[in-house]
Amino acid sequence: MIQQLTKEPYHISLYRRYRPQRFSEVVGQEEITRTLRNAVMSGDVAHAYLFSGERGIGKTSIARILSRAVNCHSPQDGEPCNTCANCKTIMENRSLDIMEIDGASNRGIDHIRRLRDEVAFAPTDLKTKVYIIDEVHMLTNEAFNALLKTLEEPPPHVVFIFATTEPHKVPRTIISRCQAFDFRKIPQGKIASLLSKIAEAEEIPITSEAISLIAKRANGGMRDAEVMLEQAASYSAEEITEELLLDMLGLVGSEVHEEFLRAIENGDKKEILATIDSLVDRGKDLETFLSDLVALVRDRMITADSDTARDIAICRGLLDVKQEIFRSLDRRIILEVGLLSLIEEMKKEGLIARTTKPTAKRDPAARAARQKREEKEEEPRIDRVQEE
Ligand SMILES: [Zn+2]
Repeated sequence: MIQQLTKEPYHISLYRRYRPQRFSEVVGQEEITRTLRNAVMSGDVAHAYLFSGERGIGKTSIARILSRAVNCHSPQDGEPCNTCANCKTIMENRSLDIMEIDGASNRGIDHIRRLRDEVAFAPTDLKTKVYIIDEVHMLTNEAFNALLKTLEEPPPHVVFIFATTEPHKVPRTIISRCQAFDFRKIPQGKIASLLSKIAEAEEIPITSEAISLIAKRANGGMRDAEVMLEQAASYSAEEITEELLLDMLGLVGSEVHEEFLRAIENGDKKEILATIDSLVDRGKDLETFLSDLVALVRDRMITADSDTARDIAICRGLLDVKQEIFRSLDRRIILEVGLLSLIEEMKKEGLIARTTKPTAKRDPAARAARQKREEKEEEPRIDRVQEE
């Protein structure tokens, strides 16, 4: 059974209800949480941290856990106890000493000056003031300069945690005064395990294929995975299957991609146009279809038995069409014309198969290679679930 971590009512989103409350509950960022726990245990917490990485992978969650860990009356192994007065005050958002600031809407010099003045005062009810600035790269240059002055001589009772999805936009002078952590995308296996636990706890009926599809589509982000699960659950009261998800997300199954790719390789214009017709008919997302197609060719290119020249030509052609589609209103025609000209190009280059080749799916060598790759994938592990 998954631990019910918060007592928030049902209408609160899954993402918030299952937000990790301890370092050990955070999935996929083990190195970072280990380092932070050690810092809390040894009393060696830095004055400023920079958390960079994509959205929905745990930056804010870890920042909040750290804000409690440094203020907790009885931390255990660097973890906040979540039950003492300080932990509770922070969890209930009642402390004036913990500030969460959205860098996008407080980006000007005045905001940062005000912050700088506040920072100088001792904490009102806690041991340490924690300033969490999200999307810190949005600050203006002036604001960064004002912030830099504070970071150069940080008061002892303050910890800054800057979070950003675009660390390259944060000035080096700021970064050099922070302990920086790059957050990794969460491995698919870990997202899938956690999703199954949540689905079970929430009594959401879902097949394991559907769980895998969500984990793959979430592209390393737990928040996106939880949002998709929630959407699917409200989309249909019946069991969530792969088909239902594909339908909901405007996607097609992998066999459609493989067939389509085979049609390109064989220069089968009729098949290509028929497939596009059916995609449009069923309201599928053409851009995502192209992206998935590119990903499939790319996967194939790293196997030894692929025809590299042909795959590169296909990849280039698909990427060109994708770029054009992005800017265009009439996506269908762009897709049709783009693919037909790709085939003409490939014919000129002698890259069209003379005889029908089997798809990767039916080719035993390719299947074996794919199986090998899948076995290499990390074993699913659940770190967030507590047995108590
Ligand atoms: Zn505590």
